[in-house]
Amino acid sequence: MKRAKIVCTIGPSCDKRDVIKNMIESGMDVARLNFSHGSHEWFESIIKTIREEANKINKSIAILQDLQGIKIRIGEVENGAIQLRDGMHLEIFPGSDVSKENKIYISYPTLIEDVKPGEEILIDDGILKIKVEEKLKDRLIGRVIEGGVLRSRKGVNLPFTKTSIGSFTQKDQADLLFGVKMDVDYVAVSFVRDANDIEKIKKWANEKNINLPPLIAKIEKREALTNINEILDLADGIMVARGDLGVELPPEEVPFYQKKLIDIANQRKKIVITATQMLESMKEHSRPTRAEASDVANAVLDGTDALMLSTETALGKYPVESVKTMSSIIDFTEEKFLDKISTQIKVSKYFPEAIASGAVRVAQDIEAKAIVVFTHSGFSALLISKLRPFMPIVAFTPDERVYRRISLMWNVIPKYIPKEVDMIDNLFLKETERELKNLNLVKDGDAIVFVASSPFLGNKNVVRLHRVGDPL
Ligand code: PEP
Repeated sequence: MKRAKIVCTIGPSCDKRDVIKNMIESGMDVARLNFSHGSHEWFESIIKTIREEANKINKSIAILQDLQGIKIRIGEVENGAIQLRDGMHLEIFPGSDVSKENKIYISYPTLIEDVKPGEEILIDDGILKIKVEEKLKDRLIGRVIEGGVLRSRKGVNLPFTKTSIGSFTQKDQADLLFGVKMDVDYVAVSFVRDANDIEKIKKWANEKNINLPPLIAKIEKREALTNINEILDLADGIMVARGDLGVELPPEEVPFYQKKLIDIANQRKKIVITATQMLESMKEHSRPTRAEASDVANAVLDGTDALMLSTETALGKYPVESVKTMSSIIDFTEEKFLDKISTQIKVSKYFPEAIASGAVRVAQDIEAKAIVVFTHSGFSALLISKLRPFMPIVAFTPDERVYRRISLMWNVIPKYIPKEVDMIDNLFLKETERELKNLNLVKDGDAIVFVASSPFLGNKNVVRLHRVGDPL
């Protein structure tokens, strides 16, 4: 059973019920809804289908709402495409008018104020490169450094520009209100630059009395790398969003920052998802390239909690095969390199962390077949998960939202238990034994470790050791 989790982006290639069902059965743990595309009506029907199909097989699937953020784009282009030739000079305006030869429009209101001569404008995932040479009152003058065909609505990156535009746009606010109404389980925030971009959302929610789902900051701008610690103070997790990050940074820097970001998130006990182009060629082919297989395996070895499929599942020809392929690469890598995926995490003096660390250590010592955790918020499950025990962590919770959220946590099997229990209560232990046997995780004679808070002990976290089948 794989330990790292799989996030799948939902799109036209996989929005039919039978494909969703197959993806869930093949290893999807989290469905990502990309709010850069699609209507609320479409998202609502997708969420309903995913939850129905997950419930049918008692599997927990989290919904990750990905907000568009301040995505900068070219508007329409005359006749759909124009040729930008190396060395040619362009006038560049803020706005969304139709771009023509020598005159292009970028949907960024403070373009003139923010961009300085010497900085670069990248278009279409960095395929087209323009160097800004001069700033006039109402336009920039740029020279094409790397030319090619400019098509309508292509994305724009300003890797060296300190952008002043406010994040959390009107569209994001409307989308988030919708997401909260649909009870989404996580919200990904795009183009985060610093902690303010997260704080702004929290403040907005606070003023509106909205209970926000956990926030995942997408790390796709250079500024975010500098401010990663303050971002992690406020966010519940991060996504290594290599699509845009790989345009903002030279390619040779991406693997370094991927490893660094995964390590920092793990040290801070925050969720980390590694995203984009993991099995890119499977958009067209039923098998990945060797380099892609290695990329998936290396992200697992870097210690990521989850790996994300983007166009592979959203727009590709082989959505289910992509999930199966990713699942088997994760599974094989984890079996062969189990000792290499243990994280070197510092445990603090904070009691829940010390309890989690003690539970993991004792579980390894007695070769327990599972660690069972009873959790109200999911936090104890996350702490244990971050210590990367070899044996599965089975997390029982009486909260349906927590049940769904836990599906993003590394090596945690979520279980919904529709009542409050106390692990001192032998009935709960018996029920747990039955569940673990049903999951084929244990048989009589196997050791298990329980971690929970006990109301009888003043809600203190406790660890209890148990041998399956022993009288209680
Ligand atoms: C990315 O850039 O890697 C990413 C996940 O963001 P998006 O797909 O929204 O551009």
